[in-house]
Amino acid sequence: MSDHPALHAAAKAAAKTGAPVICLYVLDDSAGRAPGAAARWWLAQSLRALGADIATRGGSLILRKGPAARVIAEVARESGARTVHWNGIAQAPHQVIERQLESALAKIGVDSQCFPGDLLVPPAVIRNKEGRGLRVFTPFWRRVLALGDPPKPLPAPKDLRPAPTVASDTLETWKLEPGKPDWAGGLRETWTPGEASARARLRDFLKHTAQGYVGDRDRPDREGTSHLSPHLRFGELSPRQVWHAARFAAAENPAIGPGVDKFLSELGWREFCRHLLHDHPNLASENLQANFDGFPWKPDAKALAAWQRGRTGYPIVDAGLRELWHTGVMHNRVRMVVASFLVKHLLIDWRAGESWFWDTLVDADAGSNPANWQWVAGCGADAAPYFRVFNPVLQGEKFDPDGAYVRRWVPELKDVPPELIHQPWQATPIELASAGVTLGKSYPHPIVDHAKGRERALTAYAKIRKG
Ligand code: FAD
Repeated sequence: MSDHPALHAAAKAAAKTGAPVICLYVLDDSAGRAPGAAARWWLAQSLRALGADIATRGGSLILRKGPAARVIAEVARESGARTVHWNGIAQAPHQVIERQLESALAKIGVDSQCFPGDLLVPPAVIRNKEGRGLRVFTPFWRRVLALGDPPKPLPAPKDLRPAPTVASDTLETWKLEPGKPDWAGGLRETWTPGEASARARLRDFLKHTAQGYVGDRDRPDREGTSHLSPHLRFGELSPRQVWHAARFAAAENPAIGPGVDKFLSELGWREFCRHLLHDHPNLASENLQANFDGFPWKPDAKALAAWQRGRTGYPIVDAGLRELWHTGVMHNRVRMVVASFLVKHLLIDWRAGESWFWDTLVDADAGSNPANWQWVAGCGADAAPYFRVFNPVLQGEKFDPDGAYVRRWVPELKDVPPELIHQPWQATPIELASAGVTLGKSYPHPIVDHAKGRERALTAYAKIRKG
């Protein structure tokens, strides 16, 4: 409700004219990529929280399903609305819908007003000399910073007068949440979707975590990051709110300044990914670097299933994928490790991993998810070079040195000593027995040998380098 430019403008206009505001949410699965299962769960909770918040201000949230342009025009006609206000979405399918909406509204004599969406800077503002978006992050972020602070966030409207009776679907009929089996227990245990919880997390991060962010953000065994990604994804918090709150907190407490700068540059990656999506609507299906079109991927359903279930035999990889299944998120460092493992050690096409993340992440984002997968796979913008193959053992030892993260998510290894926890296959039979581990039974043998996997990946890469 807060920093929602369209709602703010509608409420302001209504206060002048005395007309009511109709708050409408349209579920349109034909607009771009339909959300995955975990994101649909989040959406249901988020709409419930939004509905409750609107009700405390005297209004009600109307829910409708179907092609957005048609549905919105229908509601405008049914209710006799004079103007429709919305926040723009800088993605190709949504822009088409917005044009359709404008023309549908014009036909029935209703005004259209479009406001800035959930970006710090619209893609049109950051272009190179040829008019294209930037493909390298550092100059992109420099340009964003040079523009100065984004607009100040807007307050939520205080009262919304009850709207005329407009028919609404019920959330339950949309079936966004799982029935049986109910796999969402871990999500409920981990998250409280909604604006109030998003604001509390941001406050908590700035108070307790920002100071150590530079050193801790890569440590999955620590509480080192903000956990704001699903709140940002669902518009419960805008990047403008995050920016201004962080800058204000750093002005009050200069000790958190370096942490805040780094944190805002991560928010910059979100922005960069969204700008890439604006310029490359097929980001989730097409390699940004066309030479990867001939990459000799090796489809392997068994290996993909072992990866998805966290049964690869590499503890840091398995911990990440189990964390994802339980909580709907995975630590950023571990996302990079598991993604690299899939595309390099297993030679499985990045699109298979991307679509698993799309279905299981509560923060699954149409820009950030494919852009980061392409980045790890080496075929993206400003990508990590393909030949840089993460060693999952060294990554584990560096970023989870005592193995606390692995112990939490792979409990069958909890009694393995720290020096062996990232490579239990190096333990002696006595060490394994005293930790209660039987390799191949209680925990898998490594699905692929690291050195051989690396070699195979480099050979595959050499094929596309030669063309
Ligand atoms: P913090 O470290 O607190 O960062 C603050 C905010 O900055 C995040 O909430 C997020 O909005 C943004 N951010 C941070 N890192 C990145 C990044 N690399 N790319 C884009 N934005 C970033 N993030 C998503 O929000 N949705 C996705 O679908 C997604 N898929 C990913 C897939 C892969 C393979 C990888 C390697 C990364 C992916 N990320 C994605 C980025 C990143 O892992 C998450 O944003 C981060 O882990 C969220 O945790 P946080 O909110 O505590 O992050």
